[in-house]
Amino acid sequence: MPQTAETTQKFEGRITRVLNGSGAIERCPECNRVLVNDHCVVHLDVDPVEDLRVKAEISSGETLVFNGDFVQHILGISPGDAHALPEHDILNVVQEKFTGKEIEVTASQISDEDMWYVEEIHNMR
Ligand SMILES: [Zn+2]
Repeated sequence: MPQTAETTQKFEGRITRVLNGSGAIERCPECNRVLVNDHCVVHLDVDPVEDLRVKAEISSGETLVFNGDFVQHILGISPGDAHALPEHDILNVVQEKFTGKEIEVTASQISDEDMWYVEEIHNMR
């Protein structure tokens, strides 16, 4: 296995749009992958773990990924509650709370992935 390099960087900008794959998601309890059509690509039929995630594009063009803890905090909705609501409603709340916000975050990128995973939010207004 090649070593995966991790880069950490600070970002300042405005969230221009929320991308597909945001909202209430389900993860595999074994490997944490996001389920596709209720299946993990590796472990197939699993008992899904409910989670929240937001992928957002910022003014400088990068894609930031906010994990469940951040999203839960920002939306004020738990993953369980989010899953009980219609998908459309969750996306509306996500759009409202994320789009247009000025943010300052520290995020990390793993090897060649083109997404940045938010590790710390310094400012969001
Ligand atoms: Zn899995």
